[in-house]
Formats: sequence, C-alpha cells, structure tokens
Amino acid sequence: MDLGIKDKRAIVCAASKGLGRGCAEALAAEGVSLVINARGEEALHQTARDIADRWNVEVIPVAGDITTEAGREKLLAAAGSVDILVNNAGGPPPGHWTDWTRDDFIRAIDANLLSAVAMMQACVPGMIEQGWGRVVNITSAAVRSPIAILGLSNTARTGLTGFVAGMSRDVAPQGVVVNNLLPGLHATDRAASLDSGIASRDGISIEEARARRQSTIPAGTYGDPSDFGAACAFLCSQQARFIIGQNLMLDGGALNVTI
Ligand code: NAP
Repeated sequence: MDLGIKDKRAIVCAASKGLGRGCAEALAAEGVSLVINARGEEALHQTARDIADRWNVEVIPVAGDITTEAGREKLLAAAGSVDILVNNAGGPPPGHWTDWTRDDFIRAIDANLLSAVAMMQACVPGMIEQGWGRVVNITSAAVRSPIAILGLSNTARTGLTGFVAGMSRDVAPQGVVVNNLLPGLHATDRAASLDSGIASRDGISIEEARARRQSTIPAGTYGDPSDFGAACAFLCSQQARFIIGQNLMLDGGALNVTI
C-alpha cells in the first residue's frame, strides 16, 4: 500500500535504536526524509548512515537529550518545519511505589509527558498552518494495563494520554492527526533490561524471565521494532486521516479485553 507520504519530512525522537528506530526505518521506507535524535552521538550517526543508505532518503542526526529544553531546541533548530513528529524518550526505571520521591516523579513526567507536549507545542502550529500533519506518541501498554513496578511510567504516560485526548480533537479540523501507539513487549534493549531485572528479583535466569513474559502474549513472541514501525508509518499516512486521538495497542493480544 502506498501511504502517500513520500517527500514528507519527519522528526523521530529517541531513534538510534529500538522502537524509535523502527519508526524511523518505516517512514524512510515510504520516502520520508528524517531528523533523528538520541543522546549517544556515535550510535545515532551510525543509525542515520544506515537508514540513509538503505532507503535513499536524507537523514539528519541531532544528538541531545530530548528531556531537556536545550536538547529539544537543538533538534527543532536543525529540523525546521516538519510534517510528521514521532515523540519518544527512554522509559523510567522500575521500582516500588513506596520508594519513589518527588524528584523521581518529576524526572518521569519531564521525560514521558512534558517533553512530548513541548515537541507538539513547537511542531503542531506549523502543521496547522500548512493544513496537514501527523503526530505519533510512543507511550506504553501500561497506560491501559498497569505494571506495578513501572508506576513512574504508568503515571507520566496516562497524563500524556489525557492531554492527547483533548488536544488531538482540537487540531483535527486543521488536518493534523495525533495518536498514541502503545507498545506491549517488543524485543529491544529496554525489554532485555526489564527481563534481567525480573530475573534477578525472582532468582531465575534471564531466558526464563523472558519465556515467562512471552507466554503472556497470544501472538507467541515479543514484537520487534519493525512491527512497531509499520504501525507508526500507517498512523502517519494519508489513509490515517480519520483516526483521531486513538490509543493503538501493539501487544500481540496480551491485553485480554473485548474492546
Ligand atoms: P531502547 O531500545 O532502550 O531505545 C531507546 C532509544 O531512545 C535509544 O535510541 C536511546 O538512545 C534513546 N533515548 C533514551 N533516552 C533518551 C533521551 N533522554 N533523549 C534522547 N534519546 C533518548 O528502548 P525501546 O524499547 O525502544 O523503548 C522506547 C520507549 O517505549 C521507552 O519509553 C520505553 O519505556 C517504551 N516501551 C517499550 C516497550 C518494549 O517492550 N520495548 C514496552 C513498553 C514501553 P541514547 O541512550 O543514546 O539516548
């Protein structure tokens, strides 16, 4: 299917690996030129070269921390006006609800709520002006099905979900389509580090921790960044114009609900 977004321009945040990279790859495959971001410069530059070589599109890497104002300003200055924005950042660490301090909450809210809001505030007015835009926020399945040890993530991301519910409807009349994409378990470094945390907590091997988590997924395996990227590219497509303010679960059926 031609998604109709060839020659559009996108910012993909936190995209040197994992789900952000999956989204960047899938957009590049549709002929979208990219400005990608992550903190680690070397991996980011390598990813930019790989994607540009593979898909023959322009890919500009801008190293910086997306959770800081300075990191965002640098990224936005390099990108200029864009048609598509994919918001992403690292996830907060696991822990126990009794231990989290105000500072822990502020860090999580900065990373997984306020950074995405700031990027939308910076990019969406330009999209409104041109009468076309797409925003995908990478959140988490934990928004619909909480994971107790990821309470910092549950808290910050449900805040973003509430913001997007209202804002997406406000900008839809101007041709801007804003949605959230909710990863369940996908095989990335983040998933591997959570597997390893569970293994040491429960005194089991990492393989066993992963097998246990995998057994909760009807599709039978962890997802991968290309599954995730394909869904992201579709939400950025022309065909997605009637999908407004939705929360698309990409979890291999793990959430056992009727709707
Ligand atoms: P990942 O494989 O660890 O990749 C994270 C990417 O984000 C890397 O490119 C990393 O590069 C970049 N990054 C991290 N913090 C950043 C920051 N402050 N500023 C800019 N770039 C940053 O993680 P992932 O699995 O793709 O996860 C992406 C998001 O989805 C996370 O918020 C995660 O919590 C959430 N999620 C993932 C899963 C899953 O199963 N994978 C499930 C639910 C939710 P640098 O470290 O070099 O900055």
